[in-house]
Amino acid sequence: MEQKFTGFKCKSCGRVMYPKHDRCLDCKGTEFEEVELGEGATLLTYTKLYVLPEGIEMPPLVLGIVKFPGGVRAMGQLTTDDPKIGMKLRPVWGKLRKMKDKEIFGFKFEPLK
Ligand SMILES: [Zn+2]
Repeated sequence: MEQKFTGFKCKSCGRVMYPKHDRCLDCKGTEFEEVELGEGATLLTYTKLYVLPEGIEMPPLVLGIVKFPGGVRAMGQLTTDDPKIGMKLRPVWGKLRKMKDKEIFGFKFEPLK
C-alpha cells in the first residue's frame, strides 16, 4: 500500500508541521489540513547508531534530520549507510525494524538518484 508523506498545516496561521501535533506550535490552533511537503528533502544532519536497542535487526541504524522545500523538518531512518550532509532524499514507506515478533512500518528516507 502506498502511503503519502504529508505535513499538517494549521488552518489558523498556516504553519506546517510534521509529525502532527494536537495543537499548533505557534498559535495553539487545533485544526489542520494535510499538505504535500514536496520531493527532494535535504539532509541537514545525521547520526549513526551502532549500539541498537534490543530487537532492532538492521545495524547500523542511520538517523537523519531532513528539511523539505517548504521548510518542514522531519527525523527518520535513512536507507543509505553513507549519508552526506546536503544530499537530497525522498520519503519511502517500508519496514523500519522488527521488535520481538512485531514488524514496525513507517517512513524512511532514500537518496534521490
Ligand atoms: Zn497555527
